[in-house]
Amino acid sequence: MENDALFMKEAVRLSELAVAHGNEPFGAVLVKDGEVVYSNENQIYTCTDPTFHAEAGLLRRFCGETGVTDLRSYTLYSSCEPCFMCCGAMVWTKLGRLVYGASDIDLCKILGETGAECCRLVFENSGWKPEVTSGILREESLKILTAYFSKNGKG
Ligand SMILES: [Zn+2]
Repeated sequence: MENDALFMKEAVRLSELAVAHGNEPFGAVLVKDGEVVYSNENQIYTCTDPTFHAEAGLLRRFCGETGVTDLRSYTLYSSCEPCFMCCGAMVWTKLGRLVYGASDIDLCKILGETGAECCRLVFENSGWKPEVTSGILREESLKILTAYFSKNGKG
């Protein structure tokens, strides 16, 4: 999709902002009908909530504030491949499409850990399977992840 890079740019911008706000470098944007309807950044430290990832936090807040719980007509852009928990949240909210930048394996390489194909593993084993596009603005996302995680551990 032609606007994928545009919306991913915003998700990556949010990942940078998250660091400026004292959190980890992850950002997410929710789009419907070509427009951003919600955005969120990682808030694990400022909210003292290890589950406040960019994606799960976005889904919780968006559903809570709007009353919308069926996201099949929405696309979520995430600067990095969502973790198992966030992929699970996408199943429960019936997200239509997920677009991410860097992969979990990319991220774990920086951390010296073994990554996993979180999205594929969760969606393949779930009753709801969002359409997935990966690698959009991967290099831009990786630059921010590398700058942060080469100096900081993961929360
Ligand atoms: Zn997550």
